[in-house]
Amino acid sequence: MKILIFFLLLTTSSLAQKLPTRWDELTASDWQRAMDSSSQTCILPIGILEKHGPHAPFGSDLIHVREWAARATQSEYAVVFPDYFYGQINEAKQQPGTFALPSRVVWDLLEATCEEIGRNGFQKIVIINGHGSNPSLLRYFVQTQLERKRNYVVYFFEPGRDSAYLAKIRTTRKTDPATDQHAGESETSSLLYLRPDLVKMEVATAESGKNLKRLSLPNLYTAIWWYAGYPNHYAGEGARASRELGKIITENTIESLVNALKVVKKDTQTLALQNEYFEKVLGTPKSAFSLADELKKLKDLYDTGSLTKKEYEATRNKVIVKW
Ligand SMILES: [Zn+2]
Repeated sequence: MKILIFFLLLTTSSLAQKLPTRWDELTASDWQRAMDSSSQTCILPIGILEKHGPHAPFGSDLIHVREWAARATQSEYAVVFPDYFYGQINEAKQQPGTFALPSRVVWDLLEATCEEIGRNGFQKIVIINGHGSNPSLLRYFVQTQLERKRNYVVYFFEPGRDSAYLAKIRTTRKTDPATDQHAGESETSSLLYLRPDLVKMEVATAESGKNLKRLSLPNLYTAIWWYAGYPNHYAGEGARASRELGKIITENTIESLVNALKVVKKDTQTLALQNEYFEKVLGTPKSAFSLADELKKLKDLYDTGSLTKKEYEATRNKVIVKW
């Protein structure tokens, strides 16, 4: 009997462990358990297809977020949306392997993807981004969530970096942080930690990742700034990468993501506030003009003697507060 119970426990616990996190690996019979275990939380990892120096894979950014999601959800369950390569990459179309969709398609696809995730019952969508040129797009996308009412919240995860982490990075990184950017030491290091089989270190110096500084426009932003500095779409020195640095970056990011998932899964306040906000938006006169209109009607009632001064003032205050 004891042995039977032991085996039963073993089977149930190994079944529990086997609940896949990737949406595309779940079955219909897993779905409800996945929804419950995730507290209706779905991670949307966003990468891009673009050149990463001469040495790192086109999908480097997606590889990062996919691995972070896969590893973080081992300790904090959430459903993970499958590969999503679509974002802002207009600055590297001169390079092979860049997949840059028109901006409207990028926007509509992201909006439709979140809508479909929400329609499936997820109340919480956590975007994690691996591509350096996406944050402006993603922040604006998150802001536009208040354009109309919806039954889910979109969260944008950005890893927390504390002083202990920054100190560790300072002593381990070999190149100047200001120049260590796209496919440079840090990014190549985390790839060496996550997917060393995909990195070709022997060709990392085949091109220069130096800033050519061909534009100097202080306090001004243009679309061509990146190409002006880095026409090779390579910024930094991938050849100086180490697995050790990659381990520090990755472990910090995953720890930060696990904590964020814990917060999101418990969070009921954000959706409640979002709903409260829309109740007010929908119950509010559409413009200052309608407020003025409403106040004029009250004044007319007062002027014609239909309201006492006291009634007029009290109603007027109520209308202003409600507005
Ligand atoms: Zn990258």
